[in-house]
Amino acid sequence: MPLSTSRRAARTVQSEIRVMSIECEKIKGINLAQGVCDTPVPEEVREGARRAMERGINSYTRAEGLAPIRGAVADKMRRFNGIECDPETEVIIHSGSTGAFYASCLALLNPGDEVILFEPYYGYHLNTLTAVEAVPTYLTLRAPDWSFSPEDLERVVTPRTRAIMINTPANPSGKVFTREELEWIADFAQRHDLFVFTDEIYEYFVYEGKHISPATLPGMRKRTITISGYSKTFSITGWRVGYTICDRKWAQAIAYFHDLIYVCAPAPLQIGVAEGICKLPESFYQEIGKEYLHKRDLLCGTLQEIGLTPSVPKGAYYVLANATILSGSTSKEKSMTLLRETGVATVAGSAFYHGAGGENLIRFCFAKTDKELEEACRRLRKLPAALGERQSLATPRV
Ligand code: PLP
Repeated sequence: MPLSTSRRAARTVQSEIRVMSIECEKIKGINLAQGVCDTPVPEEVREGARRAMERGINSYTRAEGLAPIRGAVADKMRRFNGIECDPETEVIIHSGSTGAFYASCLALLNPGDEVILFEPYYGYHLNTLTAVEAVPTYLTLRAPDWSFSPEDLERVVTPRTRAIMINTPANPSGKVFTREELEWIADFAQRHDLFVFTDEIYEYFVYEGKHISPATLPGMRKRTITISGYSKTFSITGWRVGYTICDRKWAQAIAYFHDLIYVCAPAPLQIGVAEGICKLPESFYQEIGKEYLHKRDLLCGTLQEIGLTPSVPKGAYYVLANATILSGSTSKEKSMTLLRETGVATVAGSAFYHGAGGENLIRFCFAKTDKELEEACRRLRKLPAALGERQSLATPRV
């Protein structure tokens, strides 16, 4: 047999987001495609990591992470999320929440297990499930408010369903799951005996409603694998520090797989994050909400004005907008049209749907400095004129 990549590799594709970032770079455009926070890293976090390096905290750590960060995370989980957890046995520090989800899937899912994924989904969730040979089944949320019903859950469950994935607040829809919706999921998960994976990386980015951790609902603690991290909150996407909170029954297997793939999260950066959690005041987190609310309103106001009607997100920092006015028969073509006409890069909606559901959508990210976002909005406001010009060129004179 000739040499080839694995069947697994053949099933994975380059992220659309990366493709768009490359196109944007070519024309020196403004990249609203990628979720990269350009906002500064808090000094407590930066200094904490620097001091840790100087103090010699540069070696491998326990797979579960260093004691100061496990303690700091457990304390934060009690204060912010309302979850009591033992820092020794129920907190695992990972290489980002991406590493947390991958290790959790390896530890808890068997090949062929079905996992319910709300759609539009975050591509890494889908690709991680595919990589571990789990089978995603899709529950499509109804735009523009991204709703679903308890009956929708029953329609997608089968005897092979092993888990359901929640992302609240969600990328790309900005949905913040309500208590009522989480109660439906809790009831459903208990009746069908499912694991609940919940990715809460945007927990501090909430503009309407309240962040609720599914593990706090009655009966949910032992079946819920809560995943989050500090990439977004502390603007340290390149540091790779995240965590899993779960019942001790699952924690050891999850830590084992994290050890196998990543060994540990970067040691001094674990300490930087721990110091940030311990030292930053409550007001720091409230400021994030205010700062990003301003960015959301600036972008959504502009999109509304130019006819790319946004679905205004309640949380996270992405906007899905209706791309009807852009030329192109697919969302990829529409997003290329926008890049060509305005120099603003977005992600095609098809990246978040398994079927054709995203073909009329494009996603904007507003995790940018105010200066960059204002420039992007200035460029976007030129769209109606640019489209008008093309229209008149295309219309034959009589
Ligand atoms: N989860 C969601 C929903 C995301 O949107 C992202 C990044 O865009 C991540 C996880 C990545 O988090 P981390 O940097 O902790 O791996």
